[in-house]
Amino acid sequence: MKIGTCSFLENIDPIASHEAAISERSDNVEPNTSKRAKRSVAAHTKFWKPGRTLKIAMYDEDQKTIDKVKSIASKWIEHANLKFEFVSGAVGDIRIKIEQTQDGNSYSFLGTDALPLPPEEHTMEIGLALEDDEFEETVLHEFGHALGLDHEHQHPDADIPWDLEKVYAWYKEKSNIERDQVDRDVLPRPRNTNYTYGDYDPLSIMHYYIDSRLTTNNWSHPGNVTLSRKDLEVIRKFYPHGTT
Ligand SMILES: [Zn+2]
Repeated sequence: MKIGTCSFLENIDPIASHEAAISERSDNVEPNTSKRAKRSVAAHTKFWKPGRTLKIAMYDEDQKTIDKVKSIASKWIEHANLKFEFVSGAVGDIRIKIEQTQDGNSYSFLGTDALPLPPEEHTMEIGLALEDDEFEETVLHEFGHALGLDHEHQHPDADIPWDLEKVYAWYKEKSNIERDQVDRDVLPRPRNTNYTYGDYDPLSIMHYYIDSRLTTNNWSHPGNVTLSRKDLEVIRKFYPHGTT
């Protein structure tokens, strides 16, 4: 059974988030978005500029760990017009702390939201050990966030028959997360009219494992361990080759 849960953090100043996103890539804001909408938190995407090299800081991790994370992350990057440069030390666009924690939780900031953060702060945390069975799928999932992707189980068309009180109690007990974080990371998000949504993809690596005890009709989801065909389509769409 999966223990950890994942957050994509949004606790940054919405104006700083917006400015970082559009200075990185102007099409993070739809040209026809009204001025007022541009100022709202979720009115922009957070993708990096295609063709860019992202420097990934791994602090003092040993070479074995760096090589492992690199080989996992390459599964995304093979399909994207981006390059990753893995480095030791603390200087990088994405800064990854790997440390096994009691709750096993992991997180990442979403895409360009990493830019306005103080440089001493890490932008991704993997709460598992390298040997953990779920290490690979967790790193794949967190890199999805770091490339700007949201949670698929929160897709407005997911229609998961959540039993809300059980959901709150479960995540509090298993992952030590509070209701507001469950609202943010687990439950469906309202449809954002500024986004163009792809079809809901239950096979996405960005989808949580969902226990049957959390739904009203025993619906469950095994969680995913590899990138889906649609994950790859999405990443190719947002980071197309042939652009600079
Ligand atoms: Zn996540």
